[in-house]
Amino acid sequence: MDIHEYQAKEILASFGVAIPPGALAYSPEQAAYRARELGGDRWIVKAQVHAGGRGKAGGVKLCDSDHEIMEATEAMFGQKLVTHQTGAEGKGIYRVYVEGAVPIAREIYLGFVLDRGSQRVMIVASSEGGMDIEDISAQKPETIVRSAVEPAVGLREFQAREIAFALGIPAPLVQQMVRTLMGCYRAFRDLDATMVEINPLVVTGDSRIMALDAKMTFDDNALFRHPQVSELRDKSQEDPRESRAADRGLSYVGLDGNIGCIVNGAGLAMATMDTIKLAGGEPANFLDIGGGATPERVAKAFRLVMSDKNVRAVLVNIFAGINRCDWVAEGVVQALTAHPVEVPVVVRLAGTNVEEGRRILERSGLPVIAAGSLMDAAQKAVSALADKTPILEKAEAI
Ligand code: ADP
Ligand code: MG
Repeated sequence: MDIHEYQAKEILASFGVAIPPGALAYSPEQAAYRARELGGDRWIVKAQVHAGGRGKAGGVKLCDSDHEIMEATEAMFGQKLVTHQTGAEGKGIYRVYVEGAVPIAREIYLGFVLDRGSQRVMIVASSEGGMDIEDISAQKPETIVRSAVEPAVGLREFQAREIAFALGIPAPLVQQMVRTLMGCYRAFRDLDATMVEINPLVVTGDSRIMALDAKMTFDDNALFRHPQVSELRDKSQEDPRESRAADRGLSYVGLDGNIGCIVNGAGLAMATMDTIKLAGGEPANFLDIGGGATPERVAKAFRLVMSDKNVRAVLVNIFAGINRCDWVAEGVVQALTAHPVEVPVVVRLAGTNVEEGRRILERSGLPVIAAGSLMDAAQKAVSALADKTPILEKAEAI
């Protein structure tokens, strides 16, 4: 789960990371009022969306007066901000953060990620802040400092000092840098984050180290033990298909293709997507209905997959180990009887009670295309799709 910049800053500040004074606003008037409350004569107005790259996309504005703040935020509210991280549809701006402008002497990149290779929390930092880490590693790889945290002891101060020295932080500021690193690490570990990124972390003109931007991502599977974090969820920033699925206990990831997939088990879902690709098709989603594929869950899964307008065929691929094919078949029949779908549905069942499952589908009289192997299912889905493609689109494709 992602959170907004202002939320990440609030969390990091509570762990001792320095941030500029700032306040949240839900309207242009409130933004101007917030700026007056904060004091000073220069402010930064920042669109709160779950994506980086806002600066280049017009989502971060420097303002010198009330009037400028009103104008800048008028242009932001209700708009979709499209940055290189949002995809073409962009993300809606419903809140802005007003922050005192800080004089920047140096910009540093600082990130904490989970490195699966070394099974460690990895600190990645660079003296070239302000750019994306992808650009830094392409253009200035020699500036990147990496340091893995030993899990048994956590981040130690000497290690934090080493990172500070490697970044060329002047001696009088090393202690502030250590405090920042330790704070980020504690926030990462205590709250089950999977990513903390401060870009830029700056050295100010008056020699303070401050986080001017902040991003945090949390492990969804650990949210149950951090209610104060799960409260920060903002559904307006999520793919509506994915939040609907999460609310129903299904794991769903929306993709760009047109073959909807209903599968039990993440591994089988991956194999199904690969096989669809091999057969020349494109999956519209990754949907794992889990082990207990009851008729109700199958019916929910159908509704979810069909709510994606790009879906032109559905492939149901169930391997019943703990599960039972007859239940799944009943689910398919229930779902298609209650909400008939207008696209071809290919069903491949294997495992416990497979014969009974197939009989249920046959007896239902529904236009379900039965498949034997996974490859057979993928090929049938792809060819059913080709048969249904409107003639005009076919002509365009040629
Ligand atoms: P994004 O990464 O989404 O573009 P940032 O929060 O990093 O958004 O802001 C973009 C740039 O704006 C920063 O790299 C920094 O140079 C500048 N900036 C952001 N906040 C402040 C601030 N409070 N004072 C001065 N400059 C700022
Ligand atoms: Mg940034």
